[in-house]
Amino acid sequence: MISEYCRPASVEEALSLLTDKSKIRLPLGGGTSLSRQQSGVDGVVDLQDTGLDWIEKGSRGLTVGAMTRLERLMAHPDVHPEVKRAIQLDAPENIRNMATLPGWLFSSGGRSILTTVLLALDATLTWEPGSKQVRLGDWLPLWKQASPGVLITEIAWLVGSQLVFEYVARAPKDQPILVVAVAQWGSGRTRVVLGGFGDMPIIAMDGPDSSGVDVASRDAYFEAEDQWATAAYRRDIAAKLALRCVERLNAKKESES
Ligand SMILES: Cc1cc2nc3c(=O)[nH]c(=O)nc-3n(C[C@H](O)[C@H](O)[C@H](O)COP(=O)(O)OP(=O)(O)OC[C@H]3O[C@@H](n4cnc5c(N)ncnc54)[C@H](O)[C@@H]3O)c2cc1C
Repeated sequence: MISEYCRPASVEEALSLLTDKSKIRLPLGGGTSLSRQQSGVDGVVDLQDTGLDWIEKGSRGLTVGAMTRLERLMAHPDVHPEVKRAIQLDAPENIRNMATLPGWLFSSGGRSILTTVLLALDATLTWEPGSKQVRLGDWLPLWKQASPGVLITEIAWLVGSQLVFEYVARAPKDQPILVVAVAQWGSGRTRVVLGGFGDMPIIAMDGPDSSGVDVASRDAYFEAEDQWATAAYRRDIAAKLALRCVERLNAKKESES
């Protein structure tokens, strides 16, 4: 049972509470998921007064403080329209007004479009103590086993890349059974990420250009079978959606040139 509520006024104070080995305390973001967990946790460390609610655009990318709610991202002019579309599809407005980006990454699983597009954008998490920079793609497979720290303070991704996603869901308001997100940088580097299956989205391809996105997507979901869709369906449609994403990227580039 959660018996202790702490509300530190700074990141330093939050870290001292979270690293205190005499108690099991967890960071509290929006609380929409954590407030339902009742076992194995002594206390929560509410981050709302720690000054982590900000969005900053630097020369290379966008950095988002850990207490930034999803709805605030929706309103920011430098957040890519496809990231906004992902948030809108994933989370209803009441959740967007409360849930934070780190809380979302911990709670959402493999069927989240937002987590899929952030992985395509090669987002990086900053963990304290130690200000360790950990790429989302390195953290997602491991977070249930080991944590690089006790607190995520920032999440950053490069801006200026092209990004599109396509998805399939059984009903308009249902979680997707397949998501394909493709990000492409100016150099041509192309990353394809698949979601809609399993515990987390996966990187299907990270190559110098877009050739082979269909084959890579088919291979990555070759055995992606669960109660929602067969593997044969997922691998065929993943290949088609990956090609459609590349067509959309190419059409966008042509219209801009
Ligand atoms: C009514 C309802 C509907 C929902 N619908 C959906 C849905 O359709 N699709 C979906 O994917 N999810 C859904 N969810 C789940 C939702 O995604 C999560 O509840 C929400 O994203 C959690 O964000 P939060 O900021 O409230 O996290 P919290 O509940 O505060 O925390 C969640 C976890 O993240 C950890 N955490 C939070 N911040 C940090 C940090 N800075 N550093 C380290 N760890 C941190 C916490 O310790 C905790 O373990 C729904 C939830 C509710 C209540």
